[in-house]
Amino acid sequence: MGMKIYNKKRNFKITPKPAEKVLKKKTKNLPSFIVQKHAARNLHYDFRLEMAGVLKSWALPKGFPVAKGDKRLAIHVEDHPMEYAHFEGVIPEGQYGGGTVMVWEVGYYQVLNASPLSALKSGKIEMILAGTKLKGHWTLVRTKNKSGDKEAWLLLKSHDDVKPLSASQENKSALTKRTMKQIAEARDAVWQSDHSHS
Ligand code: MN
Repeated sequence: MGMKIYNKKRNFKITPKPAEKVLKKKTKNLPSFIVQKHAARNLHYDFRLEMAGVLKSWALPKGFPVAKGDKRLAIHVEDHPMEYAHFEGVIPEGQYGGGTVMVWEVGYYQVLNASPLSALKSGKIEMILAGTKLKGHWTLVRTKNKSGDKEAWLLLKSHDDVKPLSASQENKSALTKRTMKQIAEARDAVWQSDHSHS
């Protein structure tokens, strides 16, 4: 879908370099993953995997499971452009996805059961996430169900338990350490979406 940055006044002083390196793959030879916390009509997390030059994306209404065997709904949504990966700011109300967006997590991922694209196609992506908040094994599995017109997948905590996140980890940007409120108030980056929301 066509989205573009309309006005981006990023404060480069508070944008840490390591995250930039993740996307450019200067330090490691793995694809990156991103999680954006998105206060749209309903608060959710957008889990995005860099694959074939775009961000394959799932919306997680309840976030990430931490106990082995727990699963959460993951709605497979449209691909997003790579340039959206570090967007943190505000999508104007009334536009597609209108609301505040935080870059909640950045890291690398490795798919264990196949190449990333084959795994996606097969409907099962067993992966290791190497982020700052999310470290460990998770598995995405496609179901036969739909959520609206979108495929309903499940995100499963596989292999073992991980510790639940602290309130501070939960509430702060991986890029700027800001809270959703601070991002909304700063309004230092605005993303214009082509599609208006009815
Ligand atoms: Mn979203």
